[in-house]
Amino acid sequence: MTLSEVVVVGASAAGLTAAETLRREGYTGRLTLIGEERYLPYDRPPLSKQVLKGEWEPERLALRTSAALDDLDAEWLLGREAVGLDVAGRTVALADGSRVAFDGLVVATGVRPRRLPFAHDLTGVHVLRDLDDALALRDALRSAGSVTVVGAGFLGAEAAAVARELGCSVSLVDPLEAPMVRQLGSAVAARVAALHTAHGVDVRCDTGVVGFSENRGRVAGVRLGDGSELAAEVVLVAIGSVPAVDWLRDSGLPVGDGLLCDAFCEAAPGIVAAGDVASWLHPDHGRIRVEHRMNATEQGMAAARTLLGRRQPFAPVPYFWTDQYDVKIQAYGRPSADADFTVVDGDPDQGPFAAVYAQDGRTTAAVTWNMPRQARALRAQVLEREPWPRPAVAHA
Ligand SMILES: Cc1cc2nc3c(=O)[nH]c(=O)nc-3n(C[C@H](O)[C@H](O)[C@H](O)COP(=O)(O)OP(=O)(O)OC[C@H]3O[C@@H](n4cnc5c(N)ncnc54)[C@H](O)[C@@H]3O)c2cc1C
Repeated sequence: MTLSEVVVVGASAAGLTAAETLRREGYTGRLTLIGEERYLPYDRPPLSKQVLKGEWEPERLALRTSAALDDLDAEWLLGREAVGLDVAGRTVALADGSRVAFDGLVVATGVRPRRLPFAHDLTGVHVLRDLDDALALRDALRSAGSVTVVGAGFLGAEAAAVARELGCSVSLVDPLEAPMVRQLGSAVAARVAALHTAHGVDVRCDTGVVGFSENRGRVAGVRLGDGSELAAEVVLVAIGSVPAVDWLRDSGLPVGDGLLCDAFCEAAPGIVAAGDVASWLHPDHGRIRVEHRMNATEQGMAAARTLLGRRQPFAPVPYFWTDQYDVKIQAYGRPSADADFTVVDGDPDQGPFAAVYAQDGRTTAAVTWNMPRQARALRAQVLEREPWPRPAVAHA
């Protein structure tokens, strides 16, 4: 089918890349990008790093120059929220009551921060997903003595590091055994815990938050499941995210943990998804959803190609990085807690190291700690799912 009216909902990394790919690969019809935020596409990873630290101002986050955006020849509907989708009638409904017609649709609405069931109305309680969140948290950290970060995934761990670098007294709380254990497995997570402790963060794992104390509408402390209480002038709730699929609930599209797509990132004929919101059938990993920056770009390209009829299963090697203090951790594949873990370079007790994860005799993931060159080398090993341990070389 030849497309003439493509609509992209979600004007960020995945949506922008999908739009650019459509144009690059010959799509000449109408192109509309709808974004709830009032900003042109910007990069999110620096929000919890350079922006929070005060090193970068928002202008530096722009994903493209205005000339590049002009070249896209697209209509931008910014500050406009999609609230519904009529699959048969081929229209997207916006909060202002208008409708946008499409014959091809890219869903790239990302995720929203998960919230605690209490206390988000207190002054001093923050989440961190978009530029406005980052600027509000940055302001709050400037004058905060004590900060508690609830949730020690990569976002919470990065924010805790920045708050510490800004001179705040910081606690990092998580019900799991160590920071980032879900993303990195126990061995590397223990190193992350030690890194934070060495920088003076009060790392409280194996315990959850059961309530906040307040003083005249302002948060004053955080009560933990183990009975202790932490003083907190500022609290960051970083307990994960939920896919932004509310607007699709009545559409009849398959919605679960994200918009459920096939191996080609297609949810229904002419409707594809990309980025954090997309749950798709990875040929090697089964149904997955990846909340990382590189995936947003790669999947934006793949989804656009599917829309154009150039279908190929989307089978990337998942990748993410995180920066905390002076450490860059990079991970390829899906490091899992039950995989065999082997350090292949460096020494985790001393500093930089590289490690591989293996299951059923195959390399499934690799993680490096301040070893970017080794990260690139190990990517190939993960991509090829090379045998591990390596077969012994026979000598004549
Ligand atoms: C603070 C922070 C730090 C990060 N750091 C790293 C990192 O170090 N390494 C890494 O690999 N990844 C990192 N990430 C993750 C990475 O930024 C995301 O994977 C990436 O932004 C996903 O892009 P996306 O386009 O799928 O979604 P998003 O960037 O979330 O964009 C979705 C857009 O859709 C809009 N939208 C949602 N619902 C609607 C609607 N109904 N109507 C219209 N518009 C809507 C949203 O407002 C948003 O602008 C970080 C994320 C955050 C928040």
